[in-house]
Amino acid sequence: MVRAASKNGEVRIFAATTRDTVEEARKDHNTSPVITAALGRLLTGGAMMGAMLKGDDKLTLQIRGDGPVKGLTVTADANGNVKGFALEPEVILPIREKDHKLDVGGAVGNGTLQIIKDLGLKDPYIGQTQLVNGEIAEDLTYYFASSEQVPSAVGLGVLMNKNNTVREAGGFIVQMLPGATEESISVVEKNVAKIHSVTDILREGKTPEDIVNMVLDGLEPNIYTSMPVQFKCDCSEEKVSRVLISIGEKELNSLIDEGKPVEIKCEFCEKAYTFSVEDVKELLTEAKKSGNLRA
Ligand SMILES: [Zn+2]
Repeated sequence: MVRAASKNGEVRIFAATTRDTVEEARKDHNTSPVITAALGRLLTGGAMMGAMLKGDDKLTLQIRGDGPVKGLTVTADANGNVKGFALEPEVILPIREKDHKLDVGGAVGNGTLQIIKDLGLKDPYIGQTQLVNGEIAEDLTYYFASSEQVPSAVGLGVLMNKNNTVREAGGFIVQMLPGATEESISVVEKNVAKIHSVTDILREGKTPEDIVNMVLDGLEPNIYTSMPVQFKCDCSEEKVSRVLISIGEKELNSLIDEGKPVEIKCEFCEKAYTFSVEDVKELLTEAKKSGNLRA
């Protein structure tokens, strides 16, 4: 992923290629092609939006829709680490007739996009907008315009191999900074319009630097940061045990009564954590002591 700005400082851009990141998500969650595309676009957008943060800040993008995938969640930090999952990872939809593309909008449907920014303050920042078409890029563009008042253009693409692994993935977010002139805006609009499909430029093997040069053509782009992007989950036994405790005393007791080990999978990476009956008893005792247990 690279971040760059026009020489006049009026426009900034993030561009990324994310094939390995999206392929890791596909493998972890065994996603169908249309869900790989949906999740891959959101992971790519999330990684770039994460790079807009500072330090230990974190960002979560949550889509809820009435389409068959039901929902997608992606969390990213400021350092190119991103993780995510789909509520229904195995949805199969026919290729869309009008453009012969994977029907991401059909899988997502109508709904909302929620952006939660944990900036280390007492309360997180939460922004919510309606989905425009469920194709992810347009939904993020609308979010930036309506919730953050930053005129932006977002392009995202995921290209699959015939065997349903990820061939290419990537995209860009270009934003007008305060005081951007009509002239700069019009140059960017023309350049973005020339990119008919992000998937096509990825197929041509374009790098993030190439994408920056295409979108900021004529504005003398200056690339000032470059960082790797990876699918990385920070789950741990401790975090997962908190999820287990959250089911409450009654449920925990019935798990103990069943007398079998409990397996919980991390929803972000599918890693399985096993708790023995003794572990569950211990967690229950500790939670009772600390008083954070519901009945
Ligand atoms: Zn995990």
